[in-house]
Amino acid sequence: MGSADSFDEPECDYLFKAVLIGDSAVGKSNLLSRFAKDEFHLDSKPTIGVEFAYRNIKVGDKMIKAQIWDTAGQERFRAITSSYYRGALGALLVYDITRKESFENLKKWLRELRQFGSSDMVIVLVGNKSDLVNSRVVNLEDGQSLAQLEGLLFLETSAKENVNVEEAFVQMIARIHEITS
Ligand code: GDP
Ligand code: MG
Repeated sequence: MGSADSFDEPECDYLFKAVLIGDSAVGKSNLLSRFAKDEFHLDSKPTIGVEFAYRNIKVGDKMIKAQIWDTAGQERFRAITSSYYRGALGALLVYDITRKESFENLKKWLRELRQFGSSDMVIVLVGNKSDLVNSRVVNLEDGQSLAQLEGLLFLETSAKENVNVEEAFVQMIARIHEITS
């Protein structure tokens, strides 16, 4: 009970692995801590990343254990290895709506996702920091049209204000469930 292998318990029907990806400081770790623990941290500690976090999500009548992987800051050096992506059924591809460069780099991240990830991986494009309305440089429409072009789900989120965070993860998990069942 309460052990690390609790996904073996009968009340859990599936275990899905998903990854967080995107430029450094876009808010990946805070999206995960908000989703998994309902926590937000003002300071960024890129080198003390957790490996992954779990949360159980009910989709229809099935209980899904989502195992979400976070980087430990390797993205700063573009040094994420293929093992990070191995077995992942979904990805949250995150940019910062206040940093144009993080949006422009999405093409590179998509290339990497498609190189190392499985071809039917569910990708949710996430424009984070939507609370910073006065610093916005990437329009909602820019995110929408990229998502449409690349066949991705899309949401703007705020890990800080807890806006759409749950929705982003749940949409990904529900879509994975749809595809795999
Ligand atoms: P990571 O490098 O992608 O994991 O980014 P972090 O989660 O470490 O966040 C980087 C910085 O952005 C930290 O100072 C966070 O407090 C801040 N941050 C993350 N999400 C948000 C958000 O939704 N709104 C605002 N205003 N700041 C955020
Ligand atoms: Mg991080």
